[in-house]
Amino acid sequence: MNDIFYKQVTEQLKMRLKDNEEKEKQAEELMIANKELAFQNKEKADRAAELIIANKELAFQNEEKADRAAELSIANKELAFQSGEKADRAAELIIANKELAFQIGEKADMATELFIANKEIAFQSEEKAERAAELIVAIKELAFQSGEKADRAAELIVANKEIAFQNEEKADRAAELIIANKELAFQNQEKAHRAAELNIANKKLIIANKELTVASKAQGEFLVNISHELKTPLNVIFATAQLFSMYCDSDSLDEKKDSIVKYTESLKQNSYRLSKLINNIVDTSKIEAGFFELNLSNRNIVEVVEDIVTSVTAFTESKGINIIFDTDLEEKIIACDSEKIDRILLNLISNAIKFSDEGDEILVEVKDKGEFVEISVKDNGIGIEKKYLNMIFDRFKQVDKSLSRNTEGTGVGLSLVKSIVELSGGSINVESKLGKGSKFTVRIPSKTVLKENTLYNSNVKSENENIQVELSDIY
Ligand code: ADP
Repeated sequence: MNDIFYKQVTEQLKMRLKDNEEKEKQAEELMIANKELAFQNKEKADRAAELIIANKELAFQNEEKADRAAELSIANKELAFQSGEKADRAAELIIANKELAFQIGEKADMATELFIANKEIAFQSEEKAERAAELIVAIKELAFQSGEKADRAAELIVANKEIAFQNEEKADRAAELIIANKELAFQNQEKAHRAAELNIANKKLIIANKELTVASKAQGEFLVNISHELKTPLNVIFATAQLFSMYCDSDSLDEKKDSIVKYTESLKQNSYRLSKLINNIVDTSKIEAGFFELNLSNRNIVEVVEDIVTSVTAFTESKGINIIFDTDLEEKIIACDSEKIDRILLNLISNAIKFSDEGDEILVEVKDKGEFVEISVKDNGIGIEKKYLNMIFDRFKQVDKSLSRNTEGTGVGLSLVKSIVELSGGSINVESKLGKGSKFTVRIPSKTVLKENTLYNSNVKSENENIQVELSDIY
């Protein structure tokens, strides 16, 4: 019994031991599992912390992107505005180019007309030369006839004497013949006289023809000169237009903006130069054809001259030249065409500037001389050699180019000035010393008009533009 009990107890103890072992093993496994769990929990906590940081980073990046997007939107608007501006500028340039092309066409027509006029003159000269040749032949023919008639008269005298000697009855007849002979002699004398007259007329014609040839030669030279003067600014304008279209083609208008502004200035300057030239040619032709008219009104000449000097002061200053206005008068009302007075003075002042140096001085004076007003423009520039003084007022004449620094110009300015002054009943003269300077003096009658002319001012440009045109051939 004890044994059995003991066995049972042992058995139970064994089972409990086994049970305990099991539980211990489970407890150990549970501990391992717990550690594993604790490790996993820590990992998850770390991951969660990382995620929070990553989230914050993302939120920050999102804000950055929103700011960048706002900036891009502003930049896009700016770009759209700039594109609009460029399109406007391109349209403006296209219009300006068309305008230029039109003006160039107009000027080319004018040059062609001048060329045709010159051919006409050459043709007329040829005609006159032929006429002179015909006259020479006619005179020779007349001289020959006179000789024949003189021989005939001599024969008649001999025959008459013979008849008188042979037949007294025929004395009456002889007397008649003598009278007829005298008549013939008289006629011969008349014819000789006529031949002499014809000879003089012929000589005059030859001289006139020579003068015409000289004039035609001067005009030919003028045309060569003028076509050079016309071509120079035209070439600049044409080359600039080509450059602009190159800029358009290469889409570089914006980046070339500075040079475009510079070239536009040169376009203007050369257009003014062309205008001056054409104005001078047209006015010269008008004067020649008798169509040039003065628009007289009673004006204070002192004010007219002073205004012109004031208006060029900025320009002369920019050249380092000092221009001074002086007068012994407060006011002097005379009949004048102020637009033409401007023209005269601007021509004289522009020459004075052209032939002066930096630091030189130009003096413009108005003086009362009783019957006329004296306006003078004096410079201390290069001056003019004595032998050239008489010819500078002749049309197309320039002082020897080797002596004058400025090779531009056509020699039209002073001849035009002289014509306008003389048309106003005045006169112009020059005093000059080579190397010392020149003084041009214009005298205009001091009279007034009862009826002022109210003709419209033919010049549509502003006064400032007129000055730019007149001074356009000074660099
Ligand atoms: P251009 O158009 O050639 O200037 P102008 O008729 O105005 O023609 O002048 C004729 C010439 O007279 C000039 O080319 C120059 O040689 C001379 N001349 C005119 N004014 C002056 C001056 N103030 N000083 C020196 N030379 C002058």
